[in-house]
Amino acid sequence: MHLKVNLLEMERKQVAIVGAGIIGVTTAVRAIETVPGIEATIISDKFSPNTTGDGAAGFWNPYLLEGCSPEKIELWCQETFSYLLNLLQSPDSSTNGIGLVSGYILSEHFMERPSYAKVFLEYRDLTKKELEFFGNKYKYGVFVTSIYVECSKLLPQLMKSFQAKGGKIVQRKINKLSELAGEYDIVINCTGVEAARVVPDPDIRPIRGQVFRVKAPWVKHIFLGGEDFYILPNTDTVVLGGTRQAGDWNKDIYLEDSKKIWKGCCELIPSLQHAEIVKEWVGLRPGCSKGPKLSREVVVGSNGKKIQVIHHYGHGGSGITVFWGTAGDVMKLLQKSVSELEPNIFRARL
Ligand SMILES: Cc1cc2nc3c(=O)[nH]c(=O)nc-3n(C[C@H](O)[C@H](O)[C@H](O)COP(=O)(O)OP(=O)(O)OC[C@H]3O[C@@H](n4cnc5c(N)ncnc54)[C@H](O)[C@@H]3O)c2cc1C
Repeated sequence: MHLKVNLLEMERKQVAIVGAGIIGVTTAVRAIETVPGIEATIISDKFSPNTTGDGAAGFWNPYLLEGCSPEKIELWCQETFSYLLNLLQSPDSSTNGIGLVSGYILSEHFMERPSYAKVFLEYRDLTKKELEFFGNKYKYGVFVTSIYVECSKLLPQLMKSFQAKGGKIVQRKINKLSELAGEYDIVINCTGVEAARVVPDPDIRPIRGQVFRVKAPWVKHIFLGGEDFYILPNTDTVVLGGTRQAGDWNKDIYLEDSKKIWKGCCELIPSLQHAEIVKEWVGLRPGCSKGPKLSREVVVGSNGKKIQVIHHYGHGGSGITVFWGTAGDVMKLLQKSVSELEPNIFRARL
């Protein structure tokens, strides 16, 4: 009996999850909770509150998610929204940065009903009266009830739960995934926009986003004015955005962008002129014209050792909208990799 347990322990596969953003941390949590026979370690150079999701608006709404079929987006959306609704029902939802939010998505152009519309708690066309409230600029719009997710609150909680289940955390910068060959059996690459350099993947490019975070407790609704402006309340602050500059790696604040965002948001909600600015922030969305990369390959390190690599990056402006769903697909790839690896016990005997 004891021998059996020890043998099983020896056979545990060492899995490294590189990246501690919303994608890496949820992948690690799902892996340790659902895949038997592994030991999981998160390796990352930065952690919350310094990941992309920490500065993001965290509004559940697919955005800048290119190259995926509507069926796939709907499935990932459904799985993630259900996961978030479950969290909302828990007594901990007062501290995990998740809340319900409703409001207006406005457009100058006709808005087709997307396949994921049914995932929102509510999604309906605006009435004439509602449209008139915003003046003449917007001819179309929908009212939605959705969820906001503050990663700066959720990520530390998920990390704690990962560690409580035996997960390890290592702060380390990786230059190439192959440098982990020999140390780990499997690496799951959740490096976001940095996959452009770490893989390196020429399909990944930054989509630069600049935002304000302000104190405006009187703003209770979300407002999206066309493709250019958004006003998204979180628990204690409101996010005003934004920009979407593809190919721009610069994380400095651009004064021009600040002026444009402030003017556009104050036109939508004039009382924002009195909001106190908490901070300005720039983040780089991991854009990929072919959709999030979810694939497997084998990489050989300079020591000649092989390592199984699973890629999980490229969620554009929707990482906080589809993370649980894409992590579900990655679990299937991980199961496959684990089952293909020879048991360590045989290697030990050779
Ligand atoms: C302004 C803005 C607003 C947004 N608003 C929303 C929104 O409302 N809703 C929504 O769904 N999405 C939104 N997004 C998009 C969302 O934030 C991203 O899709 C998501 O955060 C990407 O998560 P990630 O874990 O892939 O990347 P990241 O959060 O960037 O994490 C990557 C991780 O990998 C680590 N890493 C990278 N390279 C290395 C290396 N070489 N060695 C070790 N570690 C490494 C990093 O330290 C980090 O921990 C927004 C983004 C921006 C910029």
